[in-house]
Amino acid sequence: MSDTQTIIETESTHFMNTYGRFPIVLDHGEGCLLYDLDQNEYLDLNSGIGVNCLGHNHPALVKAIANQAGTLMQASNLYYTKPLVDAGQKLVKLSGLKKVFFANSGAEANEGVIKTARKYSIDTYGDPKRVQIITLNNSFHGRTIATLEATGQDKFHQNFYPFTAGFKYVDANDLAAMEDAMDDTVCAVLMELVQGESGVRPLDAGYVKAVEALCKEKDILLIIDEIQTGVGRTGTFFSYEQYGIQPDLVSCAKGLGGGVPTGAFLAGEKAADILQPGDHGTTFGGNALAMAAANVVLDQVGDPAFLADVKRKGDKFMQAISAIDSDHIQDVRGMGLMIGIEVGPEAIADDLAKLREKGLLALKAGAGTIRLLPPLIISDEQIDQAVNVMKEVLA
Ligand code: PLP
Repeated sequence: MSDTQTIIETESTHFMNTYGRFPIVLDHGEGCLLYDLDQNEYLDLNSGIGVNCLGHNHPALVKAIANQAGTLMQASNLYYTKPLVDAGQKLVKLSGLKKVFFANSGAEANEGVIKTARKYSIDTYGDPKRVQIITLNNSFHGRTIATLEATGQDKFHQNFYPFTAGFKYVDANDLAAMEDAMDDTVCAVLMELVQGESGVRPLDAGYVKAVEALCKEKDILLIIDEIQTGVGRTGTFFSYEQYGIQPDLVSCAKGLGGGVPTGAFLAGEKAADILQPGDHGTTFGGNALAMAAANVVLDQVGDPAFLADVKRKGDKFMQAISAIDSDHIQDVRGMGLMIGIEVGPEAIADDLAKLREKGLLALKAGAGTIRLLPPLIISDEQIDQAVNVMKEVLA
């Protein structure tokens, strides 16, 4: 039996069957390229589900992680470290918000914004009923008990009862439904500006601006989940910059550590000082190793020239895919280097397998959308190469 087969069989014996893994054992990567154990080369249009924003084996990232590993990896939040404070300062500056808290993952960052929004409401209004959070149908906010319930998709609300109460759902882009739902029990609206997991669906700009205005008028906190869209993915550091809004709370994760697990949430003026000693905490959040990585990411991705190039490459990639002459492709949508190609539920598995056979690793979103989240450092030549393969497979 080959090493690849042995690893796949060993996994199926010892691991819970929670993931539909592709039948590849990845071994190493270089830039936007990945190699499996059998030395097959792939162009990575997945980046570990939107994580490896600087690609694989990025020299500055590797150096910073290696140096930090040999210096101090974990100090706990009982102490200050320079990498932690540097990363926090940079993230606050890039966000235009006031204060930051570092978590470990996206779901945990969302737990933090949920807690902060509820405490803001309780502190301000003292009404135990004013704790509901409106989220959107087809959203995705994570896999913890609270964030599963925050996720506006019925399929996530099965099997794990009881969920935490306090969420209600409205359709995206339906302003009347949103306004209707904003009664005196509501403390916050939580939404992704491009719904990622459910099919790469950007919200309408006018809708988002109008929701912001309603939130301001009713003192309902506007929370933007930038876990997938943040850290340069859409061509600005956060996608809300392109919508011209200023949220009260923002969660982010994925790209933030460039491959090292970390997350964060940020608060603007209203909610910056809501969490006080004892209200929230984590052992690993802001871990020095993760922060050393985050500092490199924030320096590189936070550079306006880098972000402008992401935007340019995203536009070029999307236009080239839209120009493929194909009855098979039903829609192409997205923002920056977050692109969805709708092919329908019948075709998706076969399309992804064919792309993989031709050396392209892509992802699924929703029932029938090919999702592309390449490393942000992808080159123009690699975009051309990907489009040529897509022409063969999807035309
Ligand atoms: N929110 C959004 C928009 C996401 O895309 C994800 C993950 O895909 C999450 C939250 C959950 O993040 P994590 O898997 O790091 O817990």
